[in-house]
Amino acid sequence: MEPEITRRQRLYRISAIVLKRHDQGEADRLLTVFTRDRGKLTLLAKGVRKPASRKAGHIEPFTHVDLLVAKGKSLDLVTQAETIHAHRRLREDLVRSSWAYYVAELADVFTQDDDPNDLLFDLLLETLGRLDGDGEPALAVRYYELHLLALTGYQPQLFRCVQCNELLKPEVNFLSLERGGALCPQHGANRPETIALSVNVFKVLRFLQTRAWAEVAPLQISPGTMGQVEALLKRYVVYHLEHTLRSVAFLDRLRQGLAQMPMANGE
Ligand SMILES: [Zn+2]
Repeated sequence: MEPEITRRQRLYRISAIVLKRHDQGEADRLLTVFTRDRGKLTLLAKGVRKPASRKAGHIEPFTHVDLLVAKGKSLDLVTQAETIHAHRRLREDLVRSSWAYYVAELADVFTQDDDPNDLLFDLLLETLGRLDGDGEPALAVRYYELHLLALTGYQPQLFRCVQCNELLKPEVNFLSLERGGALCPQHGANRPETIALSVNVFKVLRFLQTRAWAEVAPLQISPGTMGQVEALLKRYVVYHLEHTLRSVAFLDRLRQGLAQMPMANGE
């Protein structure tokens, strides 16, 4: 028998959100999880595809779970799993499921392994909770996108012109994907690389970016404006993935899959 102290040093307990899983071998699964203390991790869950596995039900995608993990030679092993929040609707409702996949994938592609980001963990957990609840899913996802961009270093500058640094007024301004922010009419108009931002879209983006969710949740936004905000944020996300993060597989899915995803205006 090895001493108790050695065994305990090799075990650690973490609060984790399951981002995705892959089958491995006969009965095992590889899990990609996002944890509060350690950021993103890849773990091996042995035997979970066997019918008798007690861990299996606890490590479904989008579940918030308490894990007891043993340090392994290459991969760490899940030894116990206990559900904290099941987020059941995210697996049972097809529409909610597609939102949840998108949210989990963004957390995956915008983060590196072993790079803790507790605010992002909280944002992800809150967003999955909102998608599992009765609120407007599209609004929760837009809020998530803007705050995820901020927490991973890609926050769009929406308050001062990225060229002249003047405070932007509530008028038609312009967004530059490349420069990561808005331009005043003088510096942004009539340029092929900029996108016009209507006053409403501009206001919604700034509100979502700076306000707490409690203030955002009651907002009533017209489907037209919401559709424009969605398209804009998607372009912003895709641009930064292409130019810096280069997650090709995700980009392909984003281009194909999100074209069919339910839009805010029900299209
Ligand atoms: Zn300017």
